[in-house]
Amino acid sequence: MIGGCCVCSDDRGYDENPIVYCDGHGCNVAVHQACYGIITVPSGPWFCRKCESQERAARVRCELCPHKEGALKRTDAGGWCHVVCALYIPEVSFGSINSMEPIILKKVPQDRYNKVFVFIISN
Ligand SMILES: [Zn+2]
Ligand SMILES: [Zn+2]
Ligand SMILES: [Zn+2]
Repeated sequence: MIGGCCVCSDDRGYDENPIVYCDGHGCNVAVHQACYGIITVPSGPWFCRKCESQERAARVRCELCPHKEGALKRTDAGGWCHVVCALYIPEVSFGSINSMEPIILKKVPQDRYNKVFVFIISN
């Protein structure tokens, strides 16, 4: 694993906030429990929301940036958005603070869309 947590880039895990790795095929999502709003870390395999949804990977894309990889969550409109993008843009909020979903994009001004956040999302 390179780069550590997809959200905060820290590669250290903590007792109360471990890094959880997605077991999805070909998926390299790694996130801190708190960074992705995972309420309970399962003892068995864990899947990120993208892998958990049976949606075809080709259709899953962040609505705020051009990247497909990384820690994505559902939006309130049924699309997808990175947790990092949501945290970076002040107008974005979370439906539930604890589970950090759905990501609410309603208040985002149009000109924020499709900005390239290459320096935040390493892959
Ligand atoms: Zn993190
Ligand atoms: Zn995954
Ligand atoms: Zn994004």
